[in-house]
Amino acid sequence: MHVRFLALDRQTARLRDELDTAVARVLESGRFVLGEELEGFEAEFAKFCGTRFAVGVASGTDALTIALQAVGVEPGDEVVTVANTCVPTIVGIEQAGARPVLVDVDPSTYTLDPDRLEEALSARTKAVVPVHLYGQCADMDGILRLAGEAGVQVVEDCAQAHGSAYRGRLAGALGRAAAFSFYPTKNLGAAGDAGAVTTDDPGVAEQARLLRNYGERERFHHVRRGRNSRLDPLQAAVLRTKLPHVERWNERRREVAAVYTAALAGTAVRPPTEATERVHSYHLYVVRAPERERFRTALLERGVDTDVHYPLPVHRQPAYGDLAPAGRSLTVSEELSGSIVSLPLHAELTDEEVAHVAQSAALSAG
Ligand SMILES: *Cc1c(COP(=O)(O)O)cnc(C)c1O
Repeated sequence: MHVRFLALDRQTARLRDELDTAVARVLESGRFVLGEELEGFEAEFAKFCGTRFAVGVASGTDALTIALQAVGVEPGDEVVTVANTCVPTIVGIEQAGARPVLVDVDPSTYTLDPDRLEEALSARTKAVVPVHLYGQCADMDGILRLAGEAGVQVVEDCAQAHGSAYRGRLAGALGRAAAFSFYPTKNLGAAGDAGAVTTDDPGVAEQARLLRNYGERERFHHVRRGRNSRLDPLQAAVLRTKLPHVERWNERRREVAAVYTAALAGTAVRPPTEATERVHSYHLYVVRAPERERFRTALLERGVDTDVHYPLPVHRQPAYGDLAPAGRSLTVSEELSGSIVSLPLHAELTDEEVAHVAQSAALSAG
């Protein structure tokens, strides 16, 4: 048996008729930028997150930039985030003209460690970007408390956290604003690039709408310097088709994760930790394997594809060496990148595939 890391083709096949109808609706409407289809998705996605507003933009990276600008981040400001994330988090911060300041992560949840946040704050810090990595929310109480004391904005990176929750509230509703990605492989994915900013603040939503559309308030009246970053109606139609399924897909992801975690009990491989009062959406199922290459090779021999998210912390990437902080250690992030492995986990896996991955992981773990 061969278990692929992803099987988006299966998701598309199951929804094919509905997707065709949705795409045809947009083609027939003749409205290809902004308009009702986008507004419909924005209202539905805001409802899903439990926020007052969602503003569709062109990607998750742009969502982060626009959310940061909308809460007041300006060129030269510092924005604190984690070293253990994918590079787009950093790109999103730098596109706003800000300087990313990297902090280390908690060794059990792999998300921003509030105990390490204080030492990274400076007089120039304007915002902190916790990344709800792999589908698990960061420790928001500690982060919000410190940010509140320092007068710093909190903008969540929710690219991996559609439907994740923290103390009964959903990701996207936990800070001043949040950035979502609908990159095709995310828990809610478009048929291309797309993203959204969520917020409860009407002023932030208004700024995000301006920023994505050349700062235009009325036609040909530009009240702020913006850009072109809109979620187009074809993608909105695809997303509206998939959104009603996300909760069920996430439920299936949690079911699969529970099978893997049970199979790995007592082995040398450490399954993900589910922190208390958080609902994990298992965008990725990431384990720690002391002998990673041996584990991956043994899985591959049993037909199970794996991946590594991410093999290098940001400051070890060739392009981002200058972000290595002077005088603050990032040892947890560095150790993680050497031992983490992602197993195939998505809502389209069959029960047979799940059983095969679980058994193969236990046998390969040693
Ligand atoms: C996917 C992702 C992004 C970027 O989203 P794009 O839509 O690809 O620009 C940002 N942050 C994290 C944590 C992601 O996983």
